[in-house]
Amino acid sequence: MEDNFSIRKEGLIVTDREFEQQLRPAHFRDFKGQKQIIDNLLVFVTAAKQRGEALDHVLLHGPPGLGKTTLANIISNELEVNLRVTSGPVLDKPGDLAGLLTNLQEGDVLFIDEIHRLSPVVEEYLYSAMEDFQIDIMIDKGPSARSVQLTLNNFTLIGATTRSGLLTSPLRARFGITFHLEYYDHEVLTGIVNRSAGILNVEIDNEAAIEIARRSRGTPRIANALLRRVRDFAQVKGTGKIDIKITRYGLKALNIDQHGLDEMDNRILTTIIEKFNGGPVGLNTISTAVGEESGTLEEVYEPFLIKEGYLKRTPRGREATEHAYRHLGIQFGQNLNGTLF
Ligand code: ADP
Repeated sequence: MEDNFSIRKEGLIVTDREFEQQLRPAHFRDFKGQKQIIDNLLVFVTAAKQRGEALDHVLLHGPPGLGKTTLANIISNELEVNLRVTSGPVLDKPGDLAGLLTNLQEGDVLFIDEIHRLSPVVEEYLYSAMEDFQIDIMIDKGPSARSVQLTLNNFTLIGATTRSGLLTSPLRARFGITFHLEYYDHEVLTGIVNRSAGILNVEIDNEAAIEIARRSRGTPRIANALLRRVRDFAQVKGTGKIDIKITRYGLKALNIDQHGLDEMDNRILTTIIEKFNGGPVGLNTISTAVGEESGTLEEVYEPFLIKEGYLKRTPRGREATEHAYRHLGIQFGQNLNGTLF
């Protein structure tokens, strides 16, 4: 489980950046799943292009690795404009943002990842840029310092966030288009694994692609990372081809959970069962027990656990389902020590 955790959290995401770039679909036709979002975006992008206007600002929210950055890339490609990429924590002064904004050409896309982490002053500065395409900048220092209003080229801001609950309502209200990305089902993920294998020029059985997809926590980034790891096993320990045997071998060696749950997913379920007799237990209590922010639990971890039927949200708190007990190999109605309750 440790390895699966690092795949999603740090290790592979950073070291595999180049790989990720290579596998990133560049056009709507290559982006799999999220059909409704793609259908709508196609209409909005086509309409904006026909009118020769900048696309309205777009807010994309959903758990990590589901394709928010990829969609920003695709939108700018389809609009045939430049894409500037930055992120909330990087923009710590209004001056940083002003530099970026004044360099945008007509219709360009500015992508701000982790937009919920913008500092309040930068966020406020963004309001007039988004609404009126104008910003105030300070010229000179000391007694001759004065503020000058600059008109910007019309641009599209694409904001991405895993924590939409942390966005202020004035910021949220300035996005004309908002989409929530959902976890992918196994079929779509299998398609993504097959496509990536094609780009990497590695042969893969359909059964193996399904197995990788099944264990990827509904997340394309994890599916691609696992594919690459299994490819290594196939190359060194197998024939080079990815079949079901080498896939199972590789995933076992990586300690990948049978159902693709990562370390935190399992820790949440174990905690609810072991410490709170399966629940119901409040979100803040779980948060303290597992050492993760309650907002992150709510917006990043829980949606998958609920979707897969491991967890229930009830008015009295979170409850582990019978499915969660089975997954952890604990008899329903018992805690981890085998004590009946
Ligand atoms: P996010 O910005 O939401 O964290 P990314 O856009 O960086 O996620 O996606 C992570 C990786 O997953 C990308 O390298 C991309 O190749 C792949 N990916 C994401 N969504 C899709 C999709 N719908 N189809 C194919 N590949 C995808």
